[in-house]
Amino acid sequence: MQAAATGVEPPGTGDGAAVEAVLPIAGMTCANCAARIERGLRRTAGVRTAAVNLASERAAVAFDPARVGLPALVGAIRALGYEVPEAATRLSIEGIVCSSCVQRLERALGAAAGVLGATVNLSTGEAVVRHPAGLVDASALVRAVEAAGYRAEELDGAADDAGARAREVRRWRDRMLLAAGLSAPLVAAMVARLAAPGSPVTALLETGWLQLVLATPVQFVAGWTFYRDGYFNLRTGNANMSVLVALGTSAAYFYSLAGVLFGRRLGITATYFETSALLIALVLLGKYLEAAAKGRTSAAIGRLRGLRAKTARVLRGGSAEDVPLGAVRVGDTILVRPGEKVPVDGEVVEGVSAVDESMLTGESLPVDKAVGDAVVGGSLNTLGSFTFRATRVGRDTVLGQIVRSVEQAQGSKAPIQRIADAISNYFVPAVIAIALVTFLGWYLGTGNVAAALLSATAVLVVSCPCALGLATPTAIMVATGRGAENGILFRGGEHLEAAGRIRAVVFDKTGTITRGRPVVTDVVPMGGAGRAAVLATAAGVEARSEHPVARAIVEAAEREGLAPAPAEGVLALAGRGVSARVAGRAVLIGNTALMSREGIDAGPARDGLARLEAEGKTAVLVARDGGVMGVVAVADTVRPEAGPAVAALRAMGVDVWMITGDNRRAAAQIARQVGIAPDHVLAEVLPDDKAAKVRQLQRTGLRVAMVGDGINDAPALATADVGLAMGTGTDVALETADIALIRGDLRGVVAAIDLSRATLGKIRQNLFWALVYNCVGIPVAALGHLNPIIAGSAMALSSVAVTTNSLLLKRFRPLRRIGGPAPAGVGR
Ligand code: ADP
Ligand code: MG
Repeated sequence: MQAAATGVEPPGTGDGAAVEAVLPIAGMTCANCAARIERGLRRTAGVRTAAVNLASERAAVAFDPARVGLPALVGAIRALGYEVPEAATRLSIEGIVCSSCVQRLERALGAAAGVLGATVNLSTGEAVVRHPAGLVDASALVRAVEAAGYRAEELDGAADDAGARAREVRRWRDRMLLAAGLSAPLVAAMVARLAAPGSPVTALLETGWLQLVLATPVQFVAGWTFYRDGYFNLRTGNANMSVLVALGTSAAYFYSLAGVLFGRRLGITATYFETSALLIALVLLGKYLEAAAKGRTSAAIGRLRGLRAKTARVLRGGSAEDVPLGAVRVGDTILVRPGEKVPVDGEVVEGVSAVDESMLTGESLPVDKAVGDAVVGGSLNTLGSFTFRATRVGRDTVLGQIVRSVEQAQGSKAPIQRIADAISNYFVPAVIAIALVTFLGWYLGTGNVAAALLSATAVLVVSCPCALGLATPTAIMVATGRGAENGILFRGGEHLEAAGRIRAVVFDKTGTITRGRPVVTDVVPMGGAGRAAVLATAAGVEARSEHPVARAIVEAAEREGLAPAPAEGVLALAGRGVSARVAGRAVLIGNTALMSREGIDAGPARDGLARLEAEGKTAVLVARDGGVMGVVAVADTVRPEAGPAVAALRAMGVDVWMITGDNRRAAAQIARQVGIAPDHVLAEVLPDDKAAKVRQLQRTGLRVAMVGDGINDAPALATADVGLAMGTGTDVALETADIALIRGDLRGVVAAIDLSRATLGKIRQNLFWALVYNCVGIPVAALGHLNPIIAGSAMALSSVAVTTNSLLLKRFRPLRRIGGPAPAGVGR
């Protein structure tokens, strides 16, 4: 019953062409919705029947897979305004050799029942498969991978995949050692021929049969992986590096075999077993080094995971017991002693202490914790001892979310990779064609089969689509990991690439350039009202508003011991102010735009306003019954690192803008403090118009990044080419931005762009060298100037070189050139 509730299966009856899928649906509120979805689905071409169950929130759809696919069904449901909750299953795949394997696997997984899409990462050997939640189980995906000729294992985020990776590295190493060991006597024969021609040792080593016995296991045991992988690729109409290696080494091996068996009859005088065997050994060496280096590209994830505690001391039934982290449940009461790590997220229920959260927030000073305060998993308790109640465990914790977001980003593709994908599609067939032409050219030209064969072999093994395939993903992996270690979370490879092309940055003012904690500096009563009355009235109304200005006013009233006047009918007017009724009288608080819209004469306050705003303060008017009763001014402090960050961006050739709903004069004053030009200040912009302003900037041809707190500027963040949300570790708006800066330091913007540029540079370098290497190597080999063994070494070297070049990004030191206060916990 349970199992049948979700899944894709052929319906029990008659027609074999139809398939039934049970899709989860979210967002239905009434039976009406269910009927609407049913109608919408039935109208979709290829759908036979559709039944939507409102209670179980599932749609059972019978459809003709030849005419309509699952993504189209999901699209139809979304077009009607409902959501199909998605889940992702991660698999670790063994045996991926080259970028064409990746495309083949993606196709195989994408074609599996219930799958919406799949991305396979060449450098991690990981597949992320998207599907409607509950629709697919991992075992079906593993079977699909196996049918394509690879081995797979489900990765649940908690399980360490380091083991699988280590196994893969060991497998390449063992194959390489076998090949190298057996090749050694063959190489010795070559050396002996030169050093001591005619000696008995040379004669022994040169015995054809002995060489055959040595070379055969290299070819078919150590080198079997290339035949196997090449076969699975060819069967689906693909060709990859394995095909090239198998072809090239087989040519040398079988030519030599023919020499040993029928040498005299065929007139073959020389054998090339050392060539075939050594080539395989070299390519395996390259694969081994590459696998080891690839393991290091994801080391950052391991370090992030390493922040977790291993066990938690849970209080159950009056006694404390140490349980493994995975066994902690929400609601458990956990004891943390001095010097211990906080195991999961929660809320302090007893005791006081200070906790070092620098690994998550960058805040270098320990943060005081008392009853009711939130603690985060992975932070380090200092001297006190406390108990807390677990509120989030496992993957839901802040640290778990960070790890997951980095994993997802590392598994995603940057658009620039399409270049490599497009090239590698044509690459192998082209190389085989060139090898054939080389063989024929040499054979027809010289009549020498051996020379023709060796040149063709060199062509086959010198070309390496691997370097091309590794160029982008290895750089993305290293950079996202490095970013995460510095509090910069890239939500996908595409954003990493986009941030590298940014030419203008728009900062939100309140809470981004400024701290977002304004305080009241002036209260100016007018028209006979008292100072206390103005503040008490304003505080009563603002008590219901979340705006930073509102909080400042409420706090000021509290500080002065004034009871806020009870207000009713409070209405927030976004970007303008608030309205309410206090003691039966209409009260309006906000900027001059609000007053003039409501027909209130702000004339008497004009001089006061001008003076306050010129000081960089936000002055709001308080009006009662159509007349201004006073002005309240608040001032916010500029973040100390804002100036240096702006200067660093300008030095990088980035245009810096500021956008705010605040008044022009105050905005200009703040802009002056941080070094933003007056003509780059967009003031008095309503929240909804911020996105439009971003679009206007984009129309001038610039790629624009928007930096905000992710709360009320979400549309602008989404409109920008890259949206960066600032937060502080524990309350990051992870979901709203393309890049999340979790350390609440504006220099993170500079570092993000800097790191992205460095990454783009690396990718371009990698692609360039991979292409140049092939462009030079292939013709040289075709002209017969390249010994196959040297060609093989060059090939092995090229993919190792690309991976190593990407690993250099680990040395990237963000913020190294930027001034300002010492960045906390950054750059380690
Ligand atoms: P920002 O773009 O700086 O985040 P907003 O768009 O939120 O600013 O608000 C713009 C202006 O509207 C504020 O500077 C203030 O003058 C006025 N305003 C908005 N909300 C309130 C409020 N609750 N009380 C008083 N004034 C407000
Ligand atoms: Mg704001």
